[in-house]
Amino acid sequence: MPHSLFISDLHLSSNQPRSMAEFQHFIAEFASKAEALFILGDLFEYWAGDDDLDDKFHSRVIAALASLTHYHTKVYLLHGNRDLLMGEVLAKACRATLLDDPTLMDLYGIPTLLSHGDTLCTDDVDYLRYRDQMHDAKFQKDFLAKPLAARKAFIEELRRHSNEAKQSKDSAIMDVNDEAVAALLRKYHYPRLIHGHTHRPARHQHVVDGHACERWVLGDWDQQGSALRVDAQGCNVILFPSKPQPGH
Ligand code: MN
Repeated sequence: MPHSLFISDLHLSSNQPRSMAEFQHFIAEFASKAEALFILGDLFEYWAGDDDLDDKFHSRVIAALASLTHYHTKVYLLHGNRDLLMGEVLAKACRATLLDDPTLMDLYGIPTLLSHGDTLCTDDVDYLRYRDQMHDAKFQKDFLAKPLAARKAFIEELRRHSNEAKQSKDSAIMDVNDEAVAALLRKYHYPRLIHGHTHRPARHQHVVDGHACERWVLGDWDQQGSALRVDAQGCNVILFPSKPQPGH
């Protein structure tokens, strides 16, 4: 049956060989059979700029995505907070199309809104302030003008601070805000919503102005790879273990 697959928050890096092995397995065994693969942000642990394409590890990720053209699987990339600097050069190398956040599209007859999801976490005021700065065009231009090594060092330092900050934050403020979700659903005329970012995979039901809207949250790949399969009958979660379990 024609279907599309959704993934996010893989956080691929050379330090996480398990996630990379699962990603390659996923591309060959699952994505190759889909009409389209949508990556809703945070494919990479971080992306310092499209001049980092030649990095050995990045080349493997790009080759895996580009291989999907042989199977006629369309690939769509949406920015996450970690890889917001992914640009057209990377997209072209992956044979992928960059999507705006959010993007509304018809999926097998159902209007569906796609987002990374970080803009819905409106209780995390510090994060949103930081996000505004990172999305500022002048900031990005100045940042990308720095040498690649300096950019990587800066990002690694930011990540250390962010990990420390996360540990002291109440977990409730790092989830989506229900009113922000309702406002987004209202703005786009009550679609189905698919997003990642929070690492809290689930199916939620929202009733907004009397309209019932499904919200699917994608899982991260920190412990186990997962994807959401969408076809004309609806959405289903696929989980894939990296290796066969002993004794099975
Ligand atoms: Mn994220």
